Amino acid sequence: MHQTNNTLPEDVWNNALEDFKTHLRFKSISTDSAYKQDVADCGAWLHAKFESMGLETQTYPTAGHPIVVGRTKADPNKKTVLIYGHYDVQPVDPLHLWHSDPFEPVIKDGKIWGRGTTDNKGQHLALILGVEKYLNEHEGELPVNVIFLIEGEEEIGSPNLKPFLEKHKEQFACDIIAVSDTGMVARNTPTLGYGLRGIACLEITVNAANADLHSGLYGGMVANPAQVVAKLISSLHDSNGKVAIDGFYDDVVELETWEKDMWTTVPDMDDTSLKTLLGVDELVGEAGYTPVERVWGRPTAEVNGIYGGYQGEGSKTVIPANAGAKLSFRLVPQMQPDIILAQAKAHLEQHCPAGVTLDIELGHSGNSYMCDPHSEFGKAGQEALRKTFNAEPVLIREGGSIPIIADFKEVLGTDSLLLGLALPDCQIHSPNENFHLANFRYGIVLVQNLLDELA
Ligand SMILES: [Zn+2]
Repeated sequence: MHQTNNTLPEDVWNNALEDFKTHLRFKSISTDSAYKQDVADCGAWLHAKFESMGLETQTYPTAGHPIVVGRTKADPNKKTVLIYGHYDVQPVDPLHLWHSDPFEPVIKDGKIWGRGTTDNKGQHLALILGVEKYLNEHEGELPVNVIFLIEGEEEIGSPNLKPFLEKHKEQFACDIIAVSDTGMVARNTPTLGYGLRGIACLEITVNAANADLHSGLYGGMVANPAQVVAKLISSLHDSNGKVAIDGFYDDVVELETWEKDMWTTVPDMDDTSLKTLLGVDELVGEAGYTPVERVWGRPTAEVNGIYGGYQGEGSKTVIPANAGAKLSFRLVPQMQPDIILAQAKAHLEQHCPAGVTLDIELGHSGNSYMCDPHSEFGKAGQEALRKTFNAEPVLIREGGSIPIIADFKEVLGTDSLLLGLALPDCQIHSPNENFHLANFRYGIVLVQNLLDELA
């Protein structure tokens, strides 16, 4: 029953491509209210797709965009897998940088080009079509119960998903969650993600005098907010690249030896490849860890933006009345965002010199996530990848944050297998987003192997 390669019958493949193109043509940009109807139409198309597959289908309106759910008839003797995806997409600007219409898919160079091809329409549609194929070939019977939950607000932070899950908790009880919304480290390198970093953001504003001042008349008499911002930022790290906030590392779970060993084998993540990719002479960060360990398994403090004083052409001899910066922290298990934000606030207040006032505004945050890739389900995920790609999967954590994965764990108590199909050159969120058609095929095959393995 196992599919060991990514070849598909001609008619299955042609129908899959047609469905893919139709799905891509909906301008389902969730952040822009001008596209509200397009988002709704895209959800309605998914709804019809699920119905055509014989699934029990329901579209749930939310305060924002609808959630579309399709499920097989529940058999209490079978395990249940929830497959998550999102049908909303990012805006397309800057439009002039696209080589083709973002909403009129084009196939070229073994890839399909358009907004949402990788993030996330191509990835979740592959899983849907794989399930459809399985149903067709087995008289509507699957070895596990499947619940598809496809939302329309991931690109705006999924504001309505967690309340929705809390309200309908029992209906979404499941044994494992499968998500294809992450990446493969390289072509033909099946990748199982088992961890994500969390995030915590804040913004600081430093104020001094009641107006911008002449630096000749007043320089040397008052505090300079731009210098204070620089001082506060430089206080965040010590000379070893460690975050110098008291208590910052208290709850950090150290990397395990098998992880360090595994990560040395991941293609394209060695120092030389990374330097070439990023165009830098040196990779810097926390002492005692490799670059990959720092990104996947260690917390960081970053400055995302900084402002203050004159930015125009030439010089202007002024002491700015205020200056500011936006900071974010990437977190690893078991760090708690609210604790980190409180520690960061205390640190900044303590390091703020006299002569200014410091305002700190706390921003959004999300928990980190980690599951055991060697659990029963983790092994099933690995085996499905191995069979589909005919190659040994690598096990990675991701440096980024997908808060809904932590929400699933918190509300449903269920772990997620991150079976990413994106490649580093897919240009998600950018002009000329594309998806490798080979990976679209692999996705269709992968989900069938996954259902077998999970059963
Ligand atoms: Zn995205």
